[in-house]
Amino acid sequence: MPPMPQWQAISGSAAEADLAASSPFDVCGLRVLLPAQNGSFRRLCPGDDVFDCVASLASLALDLLECKSSILALKAITRDVAKVSLEVPGLRNLEETDIEPTILEYLGAIRTSFPHVVVSNQHGMEGKNGRTHKKDCQDAFQPKSAAVIELNATVRGYPTDPRAFLAKSTRRFRNLHLRLSITLAHELVHIFVLFLVRIGSEHTPPQVSFGPFGTRTVGESGRSWESKLFGGYIDMRHNTEGVEAIALCDETKQNCWRIKTVVIDDLLVRNFNRWLQPGVPLSDKEEYPQGQATERLTGLQWKVKYDDVFPPLPPTAQGAQKPGQEAQELSPAQIAELTAGKIMDMPQ
Ligand SMILES: [Zn+2]
Repeated sequence: MPPMPQWQAISGSAAEADLAASSPFDVCGLRVLLPAQNGSFRRLCPGDDVFDCVASLASLALDLLECKSSILALKAITRDVAKVSLEVPGLRNLEETDIEPTILEYLGAIRTSFPHVVVSNQHGMEGKNGRTHKKDCQDAFQPKSAAVIELNATVRGYPTDPRAFLAKSTRRFRNLHLRLSITLAHELVHIFVLFLVRIGSEHTPPQVSFGPFGTRTVGESGRSWESKLFGGYIDMRHNTEGVEAIALCDETKQNCWRIKTVVIDDLLVRNFNRWLQPGVPLSDKEEYPQGQATERLTGLQWKVKYDDVFPPLPPTAQGAQKPGQEAQELSPAQIAELTAGKIMDMPQ
């Protein structure tokens, strides 16, 4: 049997019809791409380590979004978005009884056809966990046409790392898995707001945010969801041996709680009810006495004990790049290529 190509090219009108998850390269509607030459992308196939890792991350992200506590968080986000989106016909008259079916419709759509995932450390992604590009979807919401998720390429280095067989590396991978699954879920919450308002350029209302995130005019729905689910926004760093650490932090960034491995391992096996109880933060002292779930740290201790997961931004001609400054995002043409399914890279 000839070897399977590592990716499949689709183009032109055939690609338009290919948006539905139907090819053997889609596993439960998932497509994973890497940046290729000339601004194009190549599509990975199942069996490729990076594809399989992303499939595992996406699976946990979907399961996290569907847990009881997350549904309540998404309900609160829906109410807040609806309250200030009276110009959106679908939201203007949204009844309380419509909210959960609306959420389930969205979750059903992304479970059937996960938005394209580009695994990349280009265009500023070297300093971010994830980023989402949204497009208008007034007529019908089709996740692959509506949005592209970029995911930090940390996961690419892992499968080929010979140290992967060491216990420390296994620990690292489990923590990394949760970190990137939370990232994917966070990005899917942004796409949920798009699903509600249907206009890609429509910003998240400032009411939908948490602590230091967002501005007076634009909210941060992903952080809002994290805070409702975990009890604070999620920050990710690593120890001196490169083992990932995940913490929830309060609005001031002065108080952090590192999430212990017992919680991470339970979340990986979907034991959500033990730790993600509605309205109970992971830092709750009565529910989780003696630091059962978390290690309490000051914001300073968290920063001193654990390193930034991202490399320092390269200096520019104008001097040091400011944090959060975008070097160069995916171009509109690249987004159009992806959301139209026109992935031009040819198989060998
Ligand atoms: Zn976000």
